[in-house]
Parts: sequence; structure tokens; C-alpha cells
Amino acid sequence: MQTAAVVGGGLSGLAAAISLADHGYQVTLVERESSLGGRLSSLSDPRTGAPIDRWPPFWVDGGRELGRLLEKAGGRDLVESADSADLSLLSRSRIGVLKQRWPRGVLGNVLSVSRLSSVTWPDRLRAVAGVIALCCGRRAIPDSLSFYRHLRQIGQGNRIIGSFWNPLCLLTTGLLVEDISAPLAVARFRSAFEQSAGTIGVAHSRVGLSRLLESRIAGFIRAREGRLSVSRTVQRVLIVDGEVRGLEIQDAGVLRADAYVLAVPPRDLLSMLPEQWAGHPHFAAVRPLGYRPLTAVHLFFDRQVLPWKLAISAEPEGGLLTARGLTASGSGANPGHVAAFFPNSPGTFDLTREELVERTRRFLVDFVPGARDARLRHSLVISHEHAVFLASPGSQRARLGCETPVKNLWLAGSWTDTGLPGGLEGSAKSGRLAAESLDLSFRHGAKLACCLRTCRTSVRPSPRPTPLRPTG
Ligand SMILES: Cc1cc2nc3c(=O)[nH]c(=O)nc-3n(C[C@H](O)[C@H](O)[C@H](O)COP(=O)(O)OP(=O)(O)OC[C@H]3O[C@@H](n4cnc5c(N)ncnc54)[C@H](O)[C@@H]3O)c2cc1C
Repeated sequence: MQTAAVVGGGLSGLAAAISLADHGYQVTLVERESSLGGRLSSLSDPRTGAPIDRWPPFWVDGGRELGRLLEKAGGRDLVESADSADLSLLSRSRIGVLKQRWPRGVLGNVLSVSRLSSVTWPDRLRAVAGVIALCCGRRAIPDSLSFYRHLRQIGQGNRIIGSFWNPLCLLTTGLLVEDISAPLAVARFRSAFEQSAGTIGVAHSRVGLSRLLESRIAGFIRAREGRLSVSRTVQRVLIVDGEVRGLEIQDAGVLRADAYVLAVPPRDLLSMLPEQWAGHPHFAAVRPLGYRPLTAVHLFFDRQVLPWKLAISAEPEGGLLTARGLTASGSGANPGHVAAFFPNSPGTFDLTREELVERTRRFLVDFVPGARDARLRHSLVISHEHAVFLASPGSQRARLGCETPVKNLWLAGSWTDTGLPGGLEGSAKSGRLAAESLDLSFRHGAKLACCLRTCRTSVRPSPRPTPLRPTG
């Protein structure tokens, strides 16, 4: 059995490990933290000690990769159908709903958007024209163009960008329209629009995402003789003659395998490569890549306040509001838990924690009058400095593919070149791509070795003639 070591227990590392285990490799996954999930792992509520999901239990069901991963790991039963989850758009005290019961594809989306009551009729028509232009446009779009500029080029005005495209972009990519490179955003929207029954098809998980990873994905790897080694930090990748010979693990010696996948963010990658490799033009190219911070405001009310599973705000600062009463344990113990996520704009940074909580609460009351009477038990504000990979205009050339100049080393992570903006889908895809490339290379290697063996056998020199022995 071939062995593979995966560094990083985030979604990309788990996806690589699942795919490798599925291809018959014996996998050892090494994670620095005490739990799996990376940026999806759960937090602990300082007041009650209960686990809280760092991230809301939803994703955009254009998400083929995540769906495929869950299918493989046997976690599909924990995910609710996307068709049941309408999406609320909150704009200037008006609530528009993107219905998901229309037929799939462009027609469904056009119908859905044309009924979006939170925007004016002329803006709805503009948005419909935008959806058609995005889905049907075949012109090549340069990576240096931002999605905002592209939307302007296809006739979208600032008002409809602010009240429709920007919140949807935040939901589907974790980034705002000015932040993201146009071809990546267009590809993401096209895939989401084309696959979903109306709008972008939001799916909800019945348990927190971190639990989904822990219970099903980790179980799948263990069941195939894999090993998950948490609270272990890889300090150095030992590379000799262009080949990885092992991973130096803090206080735990050297881990050796036939092949290695590093599924970590760029800064961690550079820190664990030997100096001469970190400075190698191939790897050094990643230095300019960055991340977008997000601020999460968790409010714990004494009762359920949000009537929706998920709402997106079209306020200038953007923001997602989500409520499912779910904790990372999936127990549903917190029906009054509301989580709001804001892309950190300079304005958001300047607010104190108390001001952020108050602002979120006021915003809630604007749309849900019932929230006025609910008592806020406590709150938690967390700033995630490196939340989402910043697939900014022009960043494409710094994103590396999964293959490297080091013979038995592959890369994964939301920042690698997957053709997607990053985020959950990009992470899941990057892990799968790395595993498939690794497997292909090993099978080709094996085939080549087999060919060489056959070749050697067929051209084997005829046995040396036995020297004649003198007789008698
Ligand atoms: C609050 C928040 C909101 C988000 N919102 C969205 C969204 O709306 N849409 C979206 O698509 N995405 C969103 N994301 C991003 C998404 O969660 C990430 O893109 C994804 O989880 C990244 O997975 P990854 O495996 O690529 O990286 P990570 O999750 O960062 O995993 C890397 C892992 O490697 C480990 N590691 C690093 N160095 C070492 C070492 N030396 N030894 C051992 N282990 C090491 C780390 O501990 C980590 O667990 C959000 C993230 C956050 C935090």
C-alpha cells in the first residue's frame, strides 16, 4: 500500500485525505491545532463553554465539490435540500425573497429576480439583464478587471450593484464586488445560477459544519487505515535532491511517506520549506497573495428572533445574518443564537465591540420588530484576520497549481489555482485536484517502472555461454 502524508486539517487537507484514501493510499494527516476543520473549526463560548460554529451551517449549493465530498464521506443526509431554503435580501427596511422553487437555470433565475420586491422595477429589469449577460456572455474577461468594473460594463448601475450583486457576491465568494477578479466571480455565479433551482441555491446543514467534518469525513479516513494526528506542527519539509524525504514534526521526530500534500496557507507553506526552496521562484511567487478579514458578531437572545435561516444585508457594509439555533454540537441548544458576518470595512474596524453588537441588534430590530422584546443574554465578537482568500484582480499569476518542482510534493488550499475564487468550494476542489494529480503521477510512475521491467526482461542478454570444461 502506498503511503501519503497530508499537512493541514482544514477543508482542503481533509478533501485531499478523503480522495487519497478513496484511491487506496494509507493517509496520515497532520494538523497543528487540537481539532480538525482549520478555518471551519468550532469556537468555544467563553460564557457557557458550549461549542459554537465559527461559520454558519450553510453553503451555496452551486457547490458541487463540497456536495461530492459529502457524498463520498456519507454526510449527505445531514444536509437539507437547497430547494427548501429561500434567501432573504434585506435592503432599506424592505425584505426581498429569492425563491428557489423555479425551474433550474437561467429561466428560473430570471423569474426569481424579477419578483425580488426589495428593489425597484427598473432595477429588477437591470438585474435580470445582468443575470442573462453573465450566464450567456462568452467574451474572455481579463483577470486584471474587478467584478465591479465588469458589472458596470454589462450595464449594472451602482444601486443594483449595492442592493443585489454585492450581497450575493459576499455570500457566494466571501468577497465584495470590488475585491474579486471578474472572471472568477463570473465563473462562480454562472455555475451557481446554472445548477440551482432559482437563484443561487443555498443548502443548509443540519449540524454545524465543523461537526460534519469531524464525524463523517474523519470517520471515512480512519475507516481506511488512515491516521489523523492533531496538535502536531510540521516544522520543516526535508527535501534532498529535489525529493521530499520526510516531515520534521515538533517533538515527534520525522514522518516519512511516499508522497506529501501541503494543504496550508501560503505563509505557512513558505515557513516550512527549507530556505533554498522558499526562495525558489516557483514557491516565492505566492508572497503577494493575501486574505480578507471578516468580523463575526454572535448574539445570544433568550428566544428565537430570526424568522429566516439566512438573510443577506444590502447595507453599505454588507453582511450575512444567519440563525438556525445550531451549535457546533448540532444539538439545537441555542435557538436564540444569531450570527452576523461583516466584511471588515475601515468603518467596521473603527467600531468597538459594544458598538458592533449594538449596531447588529439595531439592524435586526429594523427588519424583525419581534427582536425588540427579546433579551440579549450575551454576545461574542470575533475578528477573523485571515478569513477568506483574497482572489483580487491580477492575483491569478501568483496562484500555484497543485504540482511542484519537488518530485513527490503536491499543494492544496483555497489559494491554489482551482479556477474558483477560494472559499469552501475552492478548498474542497484543491484537495481533490492534488490527490488526483498525485495518484496519476504514481500510477504513471508505476506503469513506467513496469514498462522498464518488461523492457529489461525482453532485452535481457542471453545467458553467458558456460565455459567449456576440459573433459577427462
Ligand atoms: C468567519 C469566516 C467566514 C467565512 N466565510 C466564507 C464564505 O462566506 N464563503 C466561503 O466560501 N468561504 C468562507 N470562509 C473561508 C473558508 O472557511 C476557507 O476558505 C476554508 O475553510 C479554507 O480551508 P483550507 O483548508 O484551504 O485552509 P485552512 O482552513 O486555513 O486549513 C489549513 C490548516 O493547516 C494547518 N496548518 C498550518 N500550518 C501547519 C503546520 N506547520 N503543521 C500542521 N498544520 C498546519 C492549520 O492549523 C489549518 O487547520 C470563511 C472563513 C471564516 C473564518
